[in-house]
Amino acid sequence: MGFFADFHVHSRYSRSTSPGLELPELARWAELKGIRVVGSGDFTHPAWFRDLEAGLADSASGLFALKKDHGSVRFILSSEISLIYKKGGKVRKVHLLLLAPSLAAVEKINASLGRRFNLRADGRPILGASARDISAEVLAIDDRVLIIPAHIWTPWFSLLGSRSGFDSLEDCFEDYSPYIHAVETGLSADPPMLARVSSLQRFTVLSNSDAHSAQNLGREANELDCPLTFDGIARAIRGGEIVRTIEFFPEEGKYHHDGHRQCGISLPPAATRKLGGICPACGKPLTLGVLYRAGELADREAEPRVPFSYQIPLKQVLSQIMACGENSKKVSQRYFSLIDRLGAEFHILQRLPLAEISRTDERLAAAIHAMRANRVRRVAGYDGVYGKIVLDMKEPRAVDF
Ligand SMILES: [Zn+2]
Ligand SMILES: [Zn+2]
Repeated sequence: MGFFADFHVHSRYSRSTSPGLELPELARWAELKGIRVVGSGDFTHPAWFRDLEAGLADSASGLFALKKDHGSVRFILSSEISLIYKKGGKVRKVHLLLLAPSLAAVEKINASLGRRFNLRADGRPILGASARDISAEVLAIDDRVLIIPAHIWTPWFSLLGSRSGFDSLEDCFEDYSPYIHAVETGLSADPPMLARVSSLQRFTVLSNSDAHSAQNLGREANELDCPLTFDGIARAIRGGEIVRTIEFFPEEGKYHHDGHRQCGISLPPAATRKLGGICPACGKPLTLGVLYRAGELADREAEPRVPFSYQIPLKQVLSQIMACGENSKKVSQRYFSLIDRLGAEFHILQRLPLAEISRTDERLAAAIHAMRANRVRRVAGYDGVYGKIVLDMKEPRAVDF
């Protein structure tokens, strides 16, 4: 059995993140969730980098414990960069996730990028350079750095996005394409959508939370079974040796279907095609979601190579069975008492036998049974509006609890 890892998170220095997003807070929530390896986020930000240097214990493995902490969580140095540049007469907006093997490497990367770009303005800095050139620059500093196109389908800021990107990774990275080994699904997409695009076949599929608050850690994650070192993880990612990914139901993501938030219009791709991509309310082009874009690039029928499991965050599950808000005090109290009794959130959701959950809470066991069987009703998100996933617990419970 492996461990869970969430590589893409942010610190309080990124826009619209919670101000309490500090290292101890990330470590505390990773522990509650059962995530063993968590991204540091935002290593390009000078102030956050100082926090990393001050707060992380020395490590030869490339994974870092907190100095003042004896927990089992380890940080991997990560940052997301936002590239905005013109290529082939079009403006491209591409987000890349970087994973670095050491603080020394990060220091050099920051020094190099900091000479031309403002790294202070945002934990996720905007760089006016191409993905190809940034890859060349970063890999010349340390060729162990992993460069992973983030949430590759989202319309506005991603490598394959309908309004921002390219049609293939090769068009984007050119001669640096061979150095790219993995892509990130993003919340609105799942591995089957990627599997139908033959040019993505060679890439390892990763799933991460892109959390802007510590509570959202592990909305998506990866299970790996490899040495707990940077090189162990890098080898697993390069070789596609991931045990499985943990996925949001993609309909819950903010860009699954097409539509207009302002007009309250949400459409599946077939309906969008019938309308020629034009909003029936305002007559302007619709924001094409991830499913539409995946359909445009799909060129085959194929199944993902690596297994995956859909998961609904435990607080959301509790909110449904207790019929009160996800952020209510009642749900929160129940959440912490369950984790006290049964173990970390991922352990409860993914590994604990239903019979054991049932001894503590029968309705929770029924809900997790429904989740594990993908028995849910789905209302898809669109144009920045989150979708909704409702567990279908009406079916008779299985007797083998
Ligand atoms: Zn991003
Ligand atoms: Zn409209």
